[in-house]
Amino acid sequence: MISTRQLAYRYAKGPELRFADVEVAQGDTLLLRGASGSGKSTWLALAAGLLAPGEGDITVAGQSLKALGARAGDAWRAKAIGFLPQKLHLSTALTVQGNLAMAQWAAGQPADDGRIAEALDALDVRALAERKPAQLSGGQAQRVALARAVLLKPRVILADEPTASLDDEAAAASLALLQATASQEGATLVIATHDARVAEFFQGKEGVQSINIVGVQR
Ligand code: ADP
Ligand code: MG
Repeated sequence: MISTRQLAYRYAKGPELRFADVEVAQGDTLLLRGASGSGKSTWLALAAGLLAPGEGDITVAGQSLKALGARAGDAWRAKAIGFLPQKLHLSTALTVQGNLAMAQWAAGQPADDGRIAEALDALDVRALAERKPAQLSGGQAQRVALARAVLLKPRVILADEPTASLDDEAAAASLALLQATASQEGATLVIATHDARVAEFFQGKEGVQSINIVGVQR
């Protein structure tokens, strides 16, 4: 579940961005559409509690983020949010297995190889566990990053431009995978995108809403 009220953010040396209110039920999908620079990534950072709203509030999985301090925010984020960044940020020095183990460690969770195996299985990349990121195709790397995102069973999955630089077939596969994964986990899915193919893919599907981030700046 995600709801926003009068959400706004101003960068120190940048524009003030104001966002339309949204209400997304748990398990539903929200598409954040809008041109490059309109504020989609900023919205995701607000939803992840990485940025604190200047005005208004955002409630994610029952937690008002305005009320959350920076320290509490880190612990909350690790549990509640699965993030699929635009640049995947897999550690090149570690194996796939090691990347997921590091995610557990970074979240202050006990090492749990069983859960890592389960997450890799769910994304069909368990056979790649001992590979380094350089030995993965783009699609495989995205699956591994998604396995890492759902490792701690987040209530919300945030994906930033997941189809950027993918051809039509790979883009459709990536969106189907995101949707299936979110649905399996009962997670709310948010996709920030300026790619028209994303709206096309979700056209007519149930539980999907889309808002245009216009990035009112002043
Ligand atoms: P999008 O993801 O839709 O491309 P962003 O959220 O990245 O948009 O950026 C929204 C606006 O905020 C843009 O005008 C961008 O230049 C500006 N912006 C983003 N990050 C910063 C920053 N760290 N400092 C100042 N301005 C920023
Ligand atoms: Mg962006």
